Amino acid sequence: MIALLRLLLILLLPLPVWSEVLQLPAGQDRILPAPFMKYWEDPDGQAEFSTVQALPDSAWHTVERRDASFGYSSSAYWLRLDLHNPYAKTQDWILLIGNPLLDHLDAYGLDGERVYRSGDQRPFDWRWIEHRQLALPLQLQPGEMRRIWLRMQTEGSANLSASLMSDKTFVHQEQRNLLFQGLFFGALLAMLVYNASIYVITRDRNYLWYSLFIASFSFYEFIQLGFALQWIWPKAQAWHQLSFPLSSALATFFSIRFTYGMLELDQAPKSYRLTANILSGCAWLVMLLALMGPYRVALLASFVLVVACILAAFVITLLRWRARYTAARLFATGWFVLIVASLASILTGTGLLPYSLLTLHAQQIGGLIEMTVFSIALAARIRQMQKAKQQAQLQLIARERQLRSEQSRRLELQQQISDELEQRVKERTATLENTLQQLSEANRQLAELNRQDSLTELYNRQALSEELAAACARAERSRQPLAILMLDLDHFKQVNDHYGHLVGDACLRHAAQRIRQRLRSSDILARFGGEEFVALLHDTGLAGALELAEQLRDDLARHPCPHPQGPIALTLSVGVHAGIPQSPYCGEQWLDMADRALYRAKAAGRNRVEYYEDSNAIGA
Ligand code: GH3
Ligand code: MG
Ligand code: MG
Repeated sequence: MIALLRLLLILLLPLPVWSEVLQLPAGQDRILPAPFMKYWEDPDGQAEFSTVQALPDSAWHTVERRDASFGYSSSAYWLRLDLHNPYAKTQDWILLIGNPLLDHLDAYGLDGERVYRSGDQRPFDWRWIEHRQLALPLQLQPGEMRRIWLRMQTEGSANLSASLMSDKTFVHQEQRNLLFQGLFFGALLAMLVYNASIYVITRDRNYLWYSLFIASFSFYEFIQLGFALQWIWPKAQAWHQLSFPLSSALATFFSIRFTYGMLELDQAPKSYRLTANILSGCAWLVMLLALMGPYRVALLASFVLVVACILAAFVITLLRWRARYTAARLFATGWFVLIVASLASILTGTGLLPYSLLTLHAQQIGGLIEMTVFSIALAARIRQMQKAKQQAQLQLIARERQLRSEQSRRLELQQQISDELEQRVKERTATLENTLQQLSEANRQLAELNRQDSLTELYNRQALSEELAAACARAERSRQPLAILMLDLDHFKQVNDHYGHLVGDACLRHAAQRIRQRLRSSDILARFGGEEFVALLHDTGLAGALELAEQLRDDLARHPCPHPQGPIALTLSVGVHAGIPQSPYCGEQWLDMADRALYRAKAAGRNRVEYYEDSNAIGA
C-alpha cells in the first residue's frame, strides 16, 4: 500500500516548471494554474483587498503544490495570478475550483470592479455560473494581461484544486463529468434498490444494514460533490456544513453494523464484538459532535473514525478469513480497495496528497468497487447459506428414507409375525375342531354304547325306555297302532347250569340274533334284563303282532343254539300287547301289560304266545 501511495505521489507531485505569467490555453487544453500563483497567508483573515493589493512582491510566496492545498487551517489565503491572452481575439475562459466544500471564495479582477463571492457558506444563487463546483468566468481581450486575486477561507480542507480551460472545453468536460456522476449515482441507486429488495424478500438484516450503508454513502458523496447544495438545500448553509461529517459518521455506523452481521461477529471471539461496539459508540459520538460541536473537530473526528473503522474491519476480516470463514475473502478485497481510496481522499484533504481529478474521484471509484465487491460477497453468502440449506435438506431426505425403510421393514416383520400367528391360530383351530369332532364322535359312540347292551349289542333297558316313550308319542300322534312283545327264554337257568355261563351267553347272543333278523329295521329290539327281550313294532296291530310273535317262537324252536356237544334247544314264551296308545297310558304301563301276557304264557306251559287286552287301547 505504501508503494502504491509513493507511486501516486510521484505521479501527482508538483511540476518544476515555473513562469511568472500564465499564457492562457487554447483548444482542448486544460491547465493547472497553481504553479503560476503566488500566495499570502492572512492568519486572522481580517485583511482588506486594498491592503492585499498594496502588499510588496516580497510578501508573496510561491505556491508549492500543484493543487494549491494548505491543509486544515483557519487562516485566509490570498492567491494572485497573472494571465495573458496571447491570441488575436477576445476569448472566454473558466477557472474551475474543484473543491466544492470551500466555505468562502472571493475573486477580484474577474470582471472589472465586480467582486465574485461564493463558497458553500454562501447562498448558491450568488454564483455567477450555476455549477456544483465553483466556476469563475474570465474574458480577456486580444493580447491583454490581467492580474486576478482569490481569497480562500474555509474550516475544512483549504485546497483550491483549480484548473483553467476555455469555456468550450469546460462545457465539453462538464458533459463527460455529468455522465460519469450519473453512472456513479445510478450504480449506487441500482445497488440500493437491489439490496433493499433482497432485504424485503429475505428479511436478512445484513441487507438492511447494507442498503442503509449504500444510502448514507450516496448521501455523503452527493454532499461532497456539491450536488446537495445545488439541488437540495441551496440556502441552508449551516445544515450543509454539518451534513458532511454527519453523513460520513452515519455511513460509517451502518458499515460497522453491516460488517458485524456479515462476518457473523456474534459467533466470533468477544474482543471482535467489543471493538465493533466501541466503534459504533464512537460513530454516535461523531454524529452528536457534527450536530452540536465545532465543525472542524467533527470533520477531523469523522475522518479518524473512518480510518479506524476501515483498519479495524480489515484486520477483523483477515482474522475471520484465517478462521476459515470463506465469505471474508471477498470482504477483505473490498476493504482493501476502500482503504486505499479513503486514505487517498483523506491525505488529499490534509494536503499530503495533491488534489487532482484522480484523487477527487478516488473515493468514488473505490467506493463503487467496494460496494460491488460487497454485493458479490453478500450474494456469495446467500449461495453459502443455500448450499448449507441444500445439504441439510439432503440429510433430511436421507434420514427420512432411512426411517421409511426401517418402518417398512418393521411393517414387513409385523406382517410376517401376524401371518405366522394367523397360520398357527388356523392350525390350532383345525386341531381343536378335529378334536371337538373326535370328542363329539366319541361322545356319540359313548352315548350309543350307553344305549347298547354289551352282550347282545341290542338296545339296553335305558334305551328301551326312551324308544318306548318316543314310539308311544309317535303312535299317538299318527294314530297308528303300536305293539309290544315281551320275550323270555324258557328254563334258561338250566342252560347255564348245564353248560356254564359262557355257553349261556353265546345262546343269549344266538337267540337275540334270531329274533333281530326277523324284525323290520325300523322295529326296536332291546334286552330287557337277564334272558328277557322286548320288541317294539311300529304301525303294527295286535293281529300282526301275534303273527310275528308266533313266527319268532317258531323260528327259535327250529333253530337251536349251536354247540360242539350238540345243538341246545331253546324255546321262547311271548307276551303281546298292542293298540293305539293314549296318554298317559303308554310306556311303563304297556310294558307291564306285555309282562302280564308273558306271565300268562309261562303259566300256560311256556313256548307259546299270549296277549293282554287293555280297555284304554284303541283298535287292538
Ligand atoms: P322260566 O321258564 O320260569 O323262565 O325259568 P328260567 O330258569 O328261565 O327263569 P329264572 O328267572 O328262574 O332264571 C333265569 C335264569 O337266567 C337265571 C340265570 O341263570 C339265567 N341268566 C340270567 N341272566 C343271564 C346271563 O346274562 N347269562 C347267562 N348265561 N345266564 C343268565
Ligand atoms: Mg326264563
Ligand atoms: Mg326270566
